[in-house]
Amino acid sequence: MGKVALVTGGSRGIGLATARALAKSGMRVAITHLGTEPPPDLYAVRCDVRDAGAVDEAFTAVERDLGAVEVLVANAGITRDRLLATMTENDFEDVLRTNLSGAYHVARRAIRSMIRRRAGRIIAVSSASAIIGARGQANYVAAKAGMIGFARATALELASRNITVNVVAPGWIETAMTRDLPDATREAAAESIPMGRFGTDEEVAEVIAFLAGPGASYLTGVVLPVDGGLTLER
Ligand code: NDP
Repeated sequence: MGKVALVTGGSRGIGLATARALAKSGMRVAITHLGTEPPPDLYAVRCDVRDAGAVDEAFTAVERDLGAVEVLVANAGITRDRLLATMTENDFEDVLRTNLSGAYHVARRAIRSMIRRRAGRIIAVSSASAIIGARGQANYVAAKAGMIGFARATALELASRNITVNVVAPGWIETAMTRDLPDATREAAAESIPMGRFGTDEEVAEVIAFLAGPGASYLTGVVLPVDGGLTLER
């Protein structure tokens, strides 16, 4: 039987594409969702990653129905873009709690069985903006850069247990998160990308599936930009 994978925020966008790619590779996939109805063909559990208790319940349900989680994709994330001068405490805290504390909650819960089994893959979905910065995203960039630090530290802690922790850092990807940007922002963004276009959620999902698969067994603590060359020129 295939490995059990859990993708947080798997109801749409990069998370959903990742769930599909992992399922295609033969894994038994569970997703978490919050406000979006999950597709009926995927095993789904409702979970707010900001809440450690809800995360524990979600893992318990997955363990009961599918088995211990061997691949964790910490994908759930939000933006609350504002320049620092007008960024409220709430804008800052909510982005940190969802992206960074959320990754901490799910990783801490996942390693319980991974350590016992001496095997596991954790993949965190950060952002190219964590490497190059982004105006109006001090909260988001802080959270996504924090995820890179978190992955490096935990990769060191867990390597001897055969658990790898890696990061993907997507650039501009065509999803709900970027679809509603003003045309001028989208055009300027596309011009700044050496490959001249936004990426697709499938293109990110394929890289995550590689990190979850047999080809990445000796890779840990790395940050893989999936960004059409965006971070190269900075
Ligand atoms: P979407 O906005 O399409 O999806 C976000 C996902 O996160 C949804 O499934 C949503 O669940 C889930 N989510 C949000 N808040 C919570 C929460 N508190 N608890 C649990 N789940 C939550 O975004 P993308 O697919 O574009 O982004 C996926 C990841 O990729 C994010 O971490 C994002 O920061 C990152 N990323 C995206 C880029 C892009 O250009 N699109 C670029 C770089 C990084 P639901 O809908 O069910 O509420």
